[in-house]
Amino acid sequence: MKQANGHLNKIWRDILIEIEKSVDSIVYNTYFKESTIYKITDNNKVLVKVDNNLQKMVFMEMIELIAEKTSIVLEEQYKVEVYNKDELDTLIGNQQETNKFMTLPLEIDLSDNIQSQYNFDNFVVGDSNKESHSAALASALSPGHFYNPLFIFGNSGLGKTHLLHSIGNYAKKHKNDLKIMYITSNDFITRVVDSFKKNRIEEFKQDMYKLDILLVDDIQFLAGKEKSHEIFFYIFNELVNNKKQIVLTSDKHPTEIKGLEERLISRFYSGLSVGLDSPEFEVAKAILDKKLELQMINPDNIDDEVLSYLATHFSKDVRKLEGALNRLIFYSINFADNDRITMEVATKAFHNQTSRERDTLSVESIKDSVATYYGLTVRQIDSKNRTRIIVNARHISMYLIRKHLDISFAKIGDEIGGRDHSTVVSAYDKIQKLLKKEASYQIAINEIERKMLNQ
Ligand code: ADP
Ligand code: MG
Repeated sequence: MKQANGHLNKIWRDILIEIEKSVDSIVYNTYFKESTIYKITDNNKVLVKVDNNLQKMVFMEMIELIAEKTSIVLEEQYKVEVYNKDELDTLIGNQQETNKFMTLPLEIDLSDNIQSQYNFDNFVVGDSNKESHSAALASALSPGHFYNPLFIFGNSGLGKTHLLHSIGNYAKKHKNDLKIMYITSNDFITRVVDSFKKNRIEEFKQDMYKLDILLVDDIQFLAGKEKSHEIFFYIFNELVNNKKQIVLTSDKHPTEIKGLEERLISRFYSGLSVGLDSPEFEVAKAILDKKLELQMINPDNIDDEVLSYLATHFSKDVRKLEGALNRLIFYSINFADNDRITMEVATKAFHNQTSRERDTLSVESIKDSVATYYGLTVRQIDSKNRTRIIVNARHISMYLIRKHLDISFAKIGDEIGGRDHSTVVSAYDKIQKLLKKEASYQIAINEIERKMLNQ
């Protein structure tokens, strides 16, 4: 009987050490590392506390492993139960169902199109992408089991394609009898058209039905392609009904893709939709480190100031961040005298670029940056809504437009839902005062400007 509650955390740490030996480090770090124990009961149950439902599902999937490790540490047979915060008080003792894996034998060999260079190991995780990363990893760990479909949306260059291939690579590595396919929606359309031409659409559908994991990239391009909608609808339903995993990506949330049939839209968000955002400064820097490592470049040859400069100016889009790093390396190899990459080299390498980027700033892009920052839409900023967060975002938009574009207060009023000149003036004054007084405003506005200036 090892009941002493004072030792609970120590016991859980010992169990975690055992678990860590048996699961992938990436799985361990994503789901287990921060988990906590709630209680060990007299009737040999260990109650584990998790932060969210996804973590809970992963734990449920591995419940036997956790129980086995617990039994090793406590030297007795124990059962494990997993609760999220809300359930803990009310649901103690509730039995959770255990799930079984579904696998099918390999029948035909479809080319999976999965690119091995994109995997979870070289995907840098931070606040901007941790939800998508965690959901993607879960779908690779137990395809068809958690959220289906998983819908990952986010602007260009934020890692959607990288995550899709990572799912494919991970699933391939850990369960070699799975049939997986990565396909872009454009490729899908081409294949549908082609199959119709050859009168082989049934075969095409039947082939797709055999998949265990279907990864469709940039589903927004399916918009307006009605024949493809229909075929995709069949394939989608067949796979989801048979608990086969579908992961879709798009540059927009399903409800915002115009030209898609309603029945598809509702299917697309019937599972889980997760968003990707631009990386924060630290993550952008960590991505740069990772890319240097992949290119086998010694980071000591680049001044930290330079990496900070890149992370500040190019982090809206990771593809651009990578491009900037490559440009810098190319420039320093070909044009700089010295082996070290200093700020002086960087300034020369980007001399023409930053000024061009500034020119792209517009009323719309500023409103968009503010809206994104506060999780709102531009339409809400323009609206008559008086909710505090919306009013605040509206005032910050007015302030930033005036500051960066120097257009008249009256014109700004026109551009933001037809407000009059004096409303804009007082909003501008208010934000200026708040900026002097409140650090939170400085942080928010710095962050919005940073993103705004490097689109
Ligand atoms: P998307 O499909 O969203 O347009 P990609 O997946 O093609 O974006 O990503 C663009 C580039 O940025 C790729 O080279 C990818 O490896 C890289 N990238 C994006 N996010 C990350 C990340 N979190 N860690 C490492 N590399 C990343
Ligand atoms: Mg992509």
